[in-house]
Amino acid sequence: MDDQQLRVQLLGTGTSTGVPVIGCDCEVCTSPDPRDSRLRCSCYIQIGNVSILIDAGPDFRAQALRAHIDSVDAVLITHHHFDHVVGLDDLRPFLFRNKVAIPCYASPETATVLERMFSYIFVDSDYPGVANLDLVRVDAPFHVEGRRELSDRVQVTPIPVLHGDLQIYGYRIGNFAYLTDTSAIPESSMDLLVGVEVLVLDGLRYESHTKHLTIPEAVELARQIGARQTYLVHLAHSIHHKRVDAELPDGVNLGYDGLKFSVRL
Ligand SMILES: [Zn+2]
Ligand SMILES: [Zn+2]
Repeated sequence: MDDQQLRVQLLGTGTSTGVPVIGCDCEVCTSPDPRDSRLRCSCYIQIGNVSILIDAGPDFRAQALRAHIDSVDAVLITHHHFDHVVGLDDLRPFLFRNKVAIPCYASPETATVLERMFSYIFVDSDYPGVANLDLVRVDAPFHVEGRRELSDRVQVTPIPVLHGDLQIYGYRIGNFAYLTDTSAIPESSMDLLVGVEVLVLDGLRYESHTKHLTIPEAVELARQIGARQTYLVHLAHSIHHKRVDAELPDGVNLGYDGLKFSVRL
């Protein structure tokens, strides 16, 4: 592949409620700093002429318009929680244009729940105008291809992580890994993260939580994984960007909506 870079954009970095939280007048929810405004977690990746979306939550439409996204070749779903999937229907404009189904990759468990949640898309899709998405169950590395002629092929590796009692997926592409909604990483998955250069990792807040890493837990895992740069996401409204970011060790920063970076493939 001639283009050896992944161009990554964080479309959203907030916890499930988003920040500001509806009805809250705390310091962060009323902050004038745009980095304290967080839509629900999602990430857009371009490699050569292949474009990949990770998760499509309730803010997907706004995020796609804000980031001028004009193509999605594949969707990687981390898990079936509301804040990560309810925007799937908003992929329809891409389908009108492409005329080809967009593959949505998910773990077998997540795929089964998605078939229930979106039966009108994934089970009885006879209704005209319905989003034409192909649910693909994956439990090993797979390849994503663009829909243009001479399209590049990109290998994606699912990284199983724990999200409370639930096992969900993070994903690794080249030297980039994206692990949202994580409370622990099994040893076997740590092995899959060896050599990652840029990591996106859950870091909800300082107070402990059964389904998410705290900031200190995330910092410790980032140290163990050893990426040169880690960005924390799924941030709650107790996280004041400027103050918390300044306290983090070298090579660990808070992510924020709209953050763009490049990673070697
Ligand atoms: Zn979430
Ligand atoms: Zn979740």
